[in-house]
Amino acid sequence: MNVGIIGAGITGLTAAYDLTRQGHQVTVYEARPYAGGLAAGFSDPHWDWSLERFYHHWFASDQDAIGLIEELGAREQLFFPRPTTSIYHEGRIHPFDSAIRVLQFTPISLVDRLRVGLVTLYLRLLRNWHPLEKLTAAEWTRRAVGDRAYEVLWKPLLISKFGQDHYQNVNMAWFWARLHKRTPRLGYFVGGFQALVDLLVQRVEAQGGAVRLDAPVRGIHRAAAGLRLELRGGDREHCAVIATCSPQALRERTPELPADYAARLDALKSMGAVVLVLALKQRLTQGHYWINMPKGGDIPFMGLVEHTNYIPPDHYGGDHIVYCGDYLAPGHPYFDYDKEQLLAEYLPGIRKVNPGFRTDWIRASWMFAEQYAQPVPVLHHSQNIPSHETPLPGLWLANMSQVYPWDRGTNYAVELGRQVAQMVVADAQGT
Ligand SMILES: Cc1cc2nc3c(=O)[nH]c(=O)nc-3n(C[C@H](O)[C@H](O)[C@H](O)COP(=O)(O)OP(=O)(O)OC[C@H]3O[C@@H](n4cnc5c(N)ncnc54)[C@H](O)[C@@H]3O)c2cc1C
Repeated sequence: MNVGIIGAGITGLTAAYDLTRQGHQVTVYEARPYAGGLAAGFSDPHWDWSLERFYHHWFASDQDAIGLIEELGAREQLFFPRPTTSIYHEGRIHPFDSAIRVLQFTPISLVDRLRVGLVTLYLRLLRNWHPLEKLTAAEWTRRAVGDRAYEVLWKPLLISKFGQDHYQNVNMAWFWARLHKRTPRLGYFVGGFQALVDLLVQRVEAQGGAVRLDAPVRGIHRAAAGLRLELRGGDREHCAVIATCSPQALRERTPELPADYAARLDALKSMGAVVLVLALKQRLTQGHYWINMPKGGDIPFMGLVEHTNYIPPDHYGGDHIVYCGDYLAPGHPYFDYDKEQLLAEYLPGIRKVNPGFRTDWIRASWMFAEQYAQPVPVLHHSQNIPSHETPLPGLWLANMSQVYPWDRGTNYAVELGRQVAQMVVADAQGT
């Protein structure tokens, strides 16, 4: 087969790896000048390792990602530290990553702490998530842990991920999945996630595939032998095309997509992401890797991630790396900000976690933003997911909105890429 893949993120590269391994011809087209999509890294001249544009780690339960890394012969590059994850509440940072720490979380009563512990245990043991998608996470969790614990712990989490517009509509199956899969040990790759992306690209190329960067696909059209992709340097035909871009991007580029399938794509909701990355001359917090911030009022972002409390600063020339991150509705004014404007907005939040913070601690800074970063799984989401096989013959969709009930992540991008590659081959073989 001669397959075209739109997007060199983890989904597209994994599909390309499997297809080229089976001897198929594959070209991956990537709009950006780099591979890796949302998991891509960047570097600074005096760093040894690259750093993700958006903070990244794996859970010890991420079997598909771990399996692929093993298959690539890179198991020894994967390691699992146990950093501290915490919650900021009214001037204090509370570690919150074990049963003991839940019991020590004094902003809620002891009875509520016990309730949170029991509910978490129940959700971790529960296997059948299907009935949960009929209920919202907001309703279910408030009823399960009570008003106070919900307001302090889980409402801020829902708001930070889905914003005021969507947080009350997200279904409980998604929340179940989030708690179900979490592990205290968090995995990282020697050299950063970009080193894994580079390894995947090398392997695809060694197996005869091509990865074309800076090659945005502008249109997808029917052709005699399959599909024609409209590209800057001339059109290319493929017997099958796997699109890993956002549903909206697919819709806009495929005028012949039948109306009912296009309507399913249009109905999917999503959030964008914005992060400010700071390379500091000194540490910001005392050992916290991840701090959930209850966004709202004078707290302008949802998470502060001190990466170098997880991965030692030696890999970054001694810099202390801090991300301030947020999920925002597409089109939010912050997407048009530059890094200085964003820093000015975020300073009050940074000073919440360390009132002594001064801007002359900053050695360098970066801002990254993506309009399509987090699908919103509303009630009965399983029925809203568009099929991988689109009604346009030869066109397949493999995208984050189809990852469910799990919270999208690179582990599921690997699973999705492999699954769709297999479906494309099975379809061509008529099996
Ligand atoms: C803030 C944040 C934190 C995250 N944290 C984690 C984490 O800790 N752990 C984890 O595992 N995952 C994390 N993720 C999620 C993870 O990054 C994604 O689930 C995964 O990378 C998705 O891969 P993908 O290939 O499906 O999509 P993407 O990475 O979005 O790749 C799609 C690619 O398609 C390209 N494209 C789009 N349109 C076109 C076009 N017309 N022509 C050509 N190319 C096109 C894009 O440029 C992009 O490279 C995080 C994501 C965000 C935003």
